[in-house]
Amino acid sequence: MNTNNSCIFCKILSEQSEDKFLFKDEFCFAIRDINPVAKAHFLVIPNQHLTFLEQWDESNLHIIGKLVKNASNLTVLEGIADGGYRLSINQKGDAGQMIDHLHLHVYGGEKLRSM
Ligand code: 5GP
Ligand code: ZN
Repeated sequence: MNTNNSCIFCKILSEQSEDKFLFKDEFCFAIRDINPVAKAHFLVIPNQHLTFLEQWDESNLHIIGKLVKNASNLTVLEGIADGGYRLSINQKGDAGQMIDHLHLHVYGGEKLRSM
């Protein structure tokens, strides 16, 4: 497993008690964002410390499918699927990315502002 000792998401995966995860399997896990910017805001994160999309090779591409599918499953479980939701991945400075371990943001639970 590709991990990074200084990465907060790798730490959360290795240290956090099971009940803090919204979801966890062999590919990815989900947590509530510590600083939510919508009524519902959670993160779906690959277990591997994968970073920038343009550096991914073919062997990692299935992970994106896992992230999106599990994100959509969680919108149903969290009761935001019918109202609507947004998925987004920030990449580097211009997008305001703070944590380089790739993660999918899931926003919903209210009318979301357009960008
Ligand atoms: P980025 O800007 O990198 O796309 O988003 C990183 C997100 O991770 C931010 O929305 C931030 O609030 C969230 N975050 C940062 N540290 C933690 C943490 O320790 N726990 C949780 N649950 N979320 C975090
Ligand atoms: Zn990491």
